[in-house]
Amino acid sequence: MKSILIGRPQLEKEVNKIAEVAGYLWQNGWAERNGGNITVNITEFVDDEIRNMAPISDVKQIGVTLPALKGCYFYCKGTGKRMRDLARRPMENGSVIRILDDCASYVIIADNAVMPTSELPSHLTVHAHLIESGSAYKATVHTHPIELVAMSHNRDFLGKDVLTNILWSMIPETKAFCPLGLGVVPYELPGSNMLADATLKELEDYDVVLWEKHGVFAKGLDVMDAFDQIDVLSKSAKIYINSRCMGYEPEGMSKEQMAEMTKAFNLPR
Ligand SMILES: [Zn+2]
Repeated sequence: MKSILIGRPQLEKEVNKIAEVAGYLWQNGWAERNGGNITVNITEFVDDEIRNMAPISDVKQIGVTLPALKGCYFYCKGTGKRMRDLARRPMENGSVIRILDDCASYVIIADNAVMPTSELPSHLTVHAHLIESGSAYKATVHTHPIELVAMSHNRDFLGKDVLTNILWSMIPETKAFCPLGLGVVPYELPGSNMLADATLKELEDYDVVLWEKHGVFAKGLDVMDAFDQIDVLSKSAKIYINSRCMGYEPEGMSKEQMAEMTKAFNLPR
C-alpha cells in the first residue's frame, strides 16, 4: 500500500514536523524508551480520497464519547513506540485514525495498523475541548523535560504561578514566547482519569502544564508551537539550576522589567 503522504505535500509537511519534534524530544533527553506522546488533528489536510479509504484495523473504542470530534482525523504516536524511531520513520511508529460517527470509536486508516498511544482518550478529550472552544490549536505533546521535572520535586515551587514567575524572570523571551506561563497538576497516576481531568482543567488557563514528578503536557497551534513553549520554559529552568549550581539564587528580572515586557510585547499577563 502506498503511503497516505504520497501526493499530499501539506499532510507530508505536517507529519515531517511531528518527526522533527520527536527527534528534538529524544535529543534533549526528554523521551527515554517509549516516553511521551504526540497527537495532532490533521482533519484540515483530509481529502475525499482519504475519507473513502478502507480501514486497516477493527473498530476500536476510545473509552469516551466526544461529539466534537465527529469527522475528525488524527495522527497519533503508536503505543510502546519510541520517539527516536518516530523521528526517522513517522508512519511506522504512528498512524492516522478516523473518528467514527458514533464519536466513541475509531479505525486506523494509514499507513500501518499501529495502535495509538494508551493515552489516546485523554489526548482526544483535550482536542475535543479545543474544537468546542473554537481554538485554532491542533497539537498536543507530552514529554519528560529533565529540568522542569526536577523542579517539580520541590513543593515550594508547586504553588500557583510560583514557577511561572521564576521561569519568566530568568530570560525575557520565556515570558514573550510562553505568555500564559506554566500550570501545575499535583501528582496523579499516569493514564488515570484524575490526571486527565486535572490536566484539562489547568489547560483552560495555560498552554503548558507540569505534571508533578512526571513531565509536561502542552497544546499548541501545531506540534512545533507546542514544542517551542516547552523548550523556552526548559531553557529558563536550566538557567535557574545553573545559577543555583554556581552557589547563588539567581536575581531574576524585576517586577518592573517583567511589566515592561508585558506592555512592549502586548502580552496577556
Ligand atoms: Zn509520561
